[in-house]
Order: sequence, then C-alpha cells, then structure tokens
Amino acid sequence: MIRFVKKSEIRAIKILRCFILKYTGVEVMTFIQSIGYPNLIYPNQNYYQELPYERSFHGYGNYGSNDNGETYAKTALTAGLLQVLSSSLNKMSRWLGNRLVNGKEFTNAENVRRVSNDMVKNNKLDVTVEYISPENMDRLSLKYGVALDDVAAGKNAFFSAEKRLAVAPMSKPSLLPHELGHAINSKSKFWSFMQKSRRYAPVVPLAVLLMSKFGKKENGKPNFVERNAGLLGFSAFLPTIIEEGKASLRGIKQAKKTLANEIKSGKVNLSALKRNYLTAWLTYLLAGIGLGIATKYSIVENKLSGKN
Ligand SMILES: [Zn+2]
Repeated sequence: MIRFVKKSEIRAIKILRCFILKYTGVEVMTFIQSIGYPNLIYPNQNYYQELPYERSFHGYGNYGSNDNGETYAKTALTAGLLQVLSSSLNKMSRWLGNRLVNGKEFTNAENVRRVSNDMVKNNKLDVTVEYISPENMDRLSLKYGVALDDVAAGKNAFFSAEKRLAVAPMSKPSLLPHELGHAINSKSKFWSFMQKSRRYAPVVPLAVLLMSKFGKKENGKPNFVERNAGLLGFSAFLPTIIEEGKASLRGIKQAKKTLANEIKSGKVNLSALKRNYLTAWLTYLLAGIGLGIATKYSIVENKLSGKN
C-alpha cells in the first residue's frame, strides 16, 4: 500500500520546524527531508508524494506496509526529538558553565589555601598544588607539560592522577578543595575505579549499539538493550556523576572543619561554595543525560538507516 503525505502533515511539520528553530536554533529541515519529506522546501510543488522509504519496506512480508510506515515515522520523530533534547542540554550546560565562571568566591584566597593544605596534610596526599594565573601560566605549563590556558582564564581546574598535580585558577582558588577531593578518591580502589570509568564514555553509544545487535531478537520487537539504550548510556556515566559529587563533599567537609571558627563567628559562609559545587555537579548530571540521549540516538539512527 502506498502512503501519501497529507497536507495536514506538512502543515504540522512546518509548525514543528518553526517551533524548534525558534527555541533551540536548530534547523531540522535537512533532517526532516532526509527522513522522507523532500517536498517541504519546495512548497509550490505537488504536496502529494510517495514517501521514499516505502520501497525499502516492501521486503518485509510479515507486516502490513502501513504499520511499517507508522513505525518508521515514529522512529524518525523519536530521532528528531532526541536531537532537539540534545541541543537543549548543551545550551543548559553552557549556561551553567557561565554561572560557574561568574560565581562568587565564598572566602578569601588565604582561607582556601588553609583548607587545601589541611586536605593534603590530613590525607597524606602526594600531590603538588598550583594556583594558575596568566603570569605564571607559561612557566608552569612548561614545568608540568600540560596546557593551562583555560585554568589561567578561570574556566577550568583539574586533578591529574598521573602527574600527581591539582590546579585551580588563582582567581578561583575555591575549586581546589574539589580537585583535592578527587586526589583523595584516587587513593581508594573503589573511588579510583569510579574516577577512571569516564574514559570509556565516548565509546558507550557504539558499545550499546553493538550489544543490541548481539541481543536476542524478540519477534521483531525491540530487544532489552534497544528498549533501555538511554538508561544504559546514562548508567555508564553514573560512576562519574557520583565520584564528582563525592569529591565536592570531601572539599566541603574539610572547609567546615578548617574554617569552623570563622563559620561560627559568621565571617565565613559556605553557601556560595556549595552553590558553585552544585552548579559544577549539575553539568556532569547533564553530561550523563546527554550520553543517555546519544546512546538512544545511536540505536534510533541505526534503525532509520535501515540496517536493522
Ligand atoms: Zn571534578
């Protein structure tokens, strides 16, 4: 059975396109065209047209072609929604990143140094601590063999287990207790495992796609891996999200101890620190959701390309 694109469908897609473009800045037209609505950019042509995917479905004898058309349209819609979701996530993440860069320091640099020094001492950390500024950036970059531009600009801080190095921007020293939290984590087998798991994140969508191929077929219906691809992708990033949270909690805990007197007398308030750490943590949560979406998308895209 041949299915035609109806005028109402085209209208609905046009509205959806404007909506998506307005709120996310994503031009989905090329994508919509690629899934079988080529007439949309030539609105003056005949509206009625056979969808190009019809042909590829004739081989499946068990299904009515109408069902297949619907399944395909559903899959295509899912793919479109996943793209929109992914781009919104990126926007949210950038917004959080900006907030973090512009976030206030909870106390002066001297107090933060006291907290950091206590963390190193109390946990017997074999870690070099450096505060990076545009002035010392080049020298330290050469010394440790790492790029420090982002750190000097106040946009990044990190702990490197290989180099036994923890750095934070001179302008944002309060990021250091979090990095030292990572250093403490790296001493424990369990937390170190959680910490290293993030290096596998980039291959998760492909790995889950391959798993879905080996998963047993359930009468033509999506198998377990296909159904839960999003959750599997997110779960793969969960150890990272948890380890990031743990690093922050360790930093806050030490700040509470070291600055107990200042907090009691009201000179120091930890709420700005907690807010900054929460903002940073949320970007990891979003990254996890993003990985879930990317993983789901790998399955959906594979279906659309007709290899399944
Ligand atoms: Zn971190």
